[in-house]
Amino acid sequence: MTMTIKAFVEQEKSKLKTTISSLKSTPHLVIIQANENEGSNIYIRGKIQDCQDVGIKATHVRYPITITEADLLKEIQRYNDDPSVDGLLVQVPLPDTIRPSVIREAIVPSKDVDGFHPLSSMMACTPKGIVDYLAAIGFPFKGKHAVVIGRSFIVGKPLSTALLDRDCTVSMIHSKTEEATKLALLQSADLICVAVGQKWFLSDEKIKPSAILVDIGINREDGLLFGDIKPGRHAALQTPVPGGVGLLTRLSLLKNVVEAYHLRHQSS
Ligand code: NAP
Repeated sequence: MTMTIKAFVEQEKSKLKTTISSLKSTPHLVIIQANENEGSNIYIRGKIQDCQDVGIKATHVRYPITITEADLLKEIQRYNDDPSVDGLLVQVPLPDTIRPSVIREAIVPSKDVDGFHPLSSMMACTPKGIVDYLAAIGFPFKGKHAVVIGRSFIVGKPLSTALLDRDCTVSMIHSKTEEATKLALLQSADLICVAVGQKWFLSDEKIKPSAILVDIGINREDGLLFGDIKPGRHAALQTPVPGGVGLLTRLSLLKNVVEAYHLRHQSS
């Protein structure tokens, strides 16, 4: 039977805990928050708990939503320069007055554990988690037809690149893709990854029963979470929501902090 995402994450966290306990010092992640968003509070609590689980020090720094872009950049620079900090991330959403691209690019690439900087030393967390899990369950990437729906900067595009790097043949579907093209691509896909942000975006379209379905979407409705793929599709594997890709993303963040730690200690 295929290893579940939950089992994979538990196994990997246990390995990380052992690795971290053998390091000379404790890896340190700084999480910057400049919003009063309840969703962000929940995500940050989860990240801090994950860090505690494996032995990473997490520092949560909050700024008022009135902070200016210039002042936030100064704070980022302070942590970029702080030798006690290995990883740095800025939780989204940001106040409307602050440009996300400017903030993303202000974090020094060697500490960019979200992997959003164009020159980041680390891979973006969601694509990394998906590819690592697929590798762990033995997905034979080479030559397989992977369809990625969604082309965002944080998920769709880096995931396509990661699959291409593993020799998949990658098709990307986005909001301008013609319906007939989409249906044709889906029918020949060995792997379908959906990151659109619409409940059950993929529902009854014809797919191969041997296809693997990776559901990245997180859609909240009446206090419940729904994925981008209708549950119960006839496929070789369909990742659940909740308890699926979200866990892989969280795991990747921990791995990236350890990678950032190694980078800093190799170069010092
Ligand atoms: P996003 O920036 O809003 O991008 C959505 C993408 O979907 C866009 O590329 C858009 O195409 C495409 N799209 C919209 N309507 C479409 C249609 N009718 N047909 C085909 N493509 C369509 O969203 P995101 O940040 O990538 O996030 C996507 C979902 O993943 C959200 O639910 C988010 O909450 C979730 N997410 C989950 C995790 C996790 O860890 N599980 C991590 C990140 C994000 P255009 O570019 O043409 O507009």
